Order: sequence, then structure tokens, then C-alpha cells
Amino acid sequence: MKNSETGKFHCDFCGKSADESGQMIIGKENSAICDECVCKCQGIILSHIKATYLLKQLDEGAAS
Ligand SMILES: [Zn+2]
Repeated sequence: MKNSETGKFHCDFCGKSADESGQMIIGKENSAICDECVCKCQGIILSHIKATYLLKQLDEGAAS
């Protein structure tokens, strides 16, 4: 989110300011996410993809 007083962006997930984070990604309507939260999200998504893939492998293995 953008602070209307300072004009600076803060991460909508963890609240870090643009000064505290390495990089801030700005989205629609002044939404923002910091690099740290992007990494956390990436980890969550990757583990979900891995789990889905492994379950699929197990299913296919059990079928044959
Ligand atoms: Zn953040």
C-alpha cells in the first residue's frame, strides 16, 4: 500500500517499507509486495507443485 502522507510504499503482506526491503513490486491500486514475501510465496507455490506432482506419481505408480 502507498502511504498517502509520505508517498512511500509498504508491503501489504508484512508491512515492511520500501526502504527496509530490497525490492518492492507494485500492483494495481497501489498494492505492494516486498521481495521477501515474494520468496515466501514462491516457496509455498513450489512445495504445492511438488506435492501435487509426487501424489500424481504415486497414483500412476499404484495404477500400473
Ligand atoms: Zn513483505
